[in-house]
Amino acid sequence: MNQNALFKLSYGLFMAASKADAKMNGCIINTVTQITSNPLQVAMTVNKQNLTCDLIKQSGMVSVSILSEKAPFSLFQHFGFQSGRDTDKFVGVPFGMTKQELPYLKENATAYLDCKVVNSVDVGTHIMFIAEVVDAEVLSDDNPMTYAYYHANVKPKPAADANAPKKGWRCKICGYVYEGEELPADFVCPLCKHGAEDFEKIG
Ligand code: FE
Repeated sequence: MNQNALFKLSYGLFMAASKADAKMNGCIINTVTQITSNPLQVAMTVNKQNLTCDLIKQSGMVSVSILSEKAPFSLFQHFGFQSGRDTDKFVGVPFGMTKQELPYLKENATAYLDCKVVNSVDVGTHIMFIAEVVDAEVLSDDNPMTYAYYHANVKPKPAADANAPKKGWRCKICGYVYEGEELPADFVCPLCKHGAEDFEKIG
């Protein structure tokens, strides 16, 4: 099987956020798809390790900020490569509130969706949420960020990080390098939470 075939699927990039018991958090996801128009429903999957996944389960609500091509790498690091269990990710980030009182990004997003969860499916590493869109707004005319655009234009080129180890296995998503001959099959990137299938051998 050639798993590179999966990279031919087109994906967007999004910041999914929720709030429960006054705790607010958001994370980067690449799996938001409209599945029906009447009622207006979307589906998304969120990694169970993310605090945001717990908050969505608790509250039954999720907002989706659709990232624009102007979103810098630092935004992906901020919402994607650290845990909301250790930090308040919304400190210093301009955000607005949806009708359901969930945060959305005022900058670097081209639109947002305000969603109510109507179903969820445990799919192993992730939970798939099916949600009804109860409100939505366009924020800018900028192009939405695709995963392909992110890889081509946003993610730092490997050579740019002079301090990165030169041998081992490199995460194709965030650039993290695992130092060792063999990458364990169940290895999960400590930065971006992607699995061993997203690593490439270097050196
Ligand atoms: Fe990674």
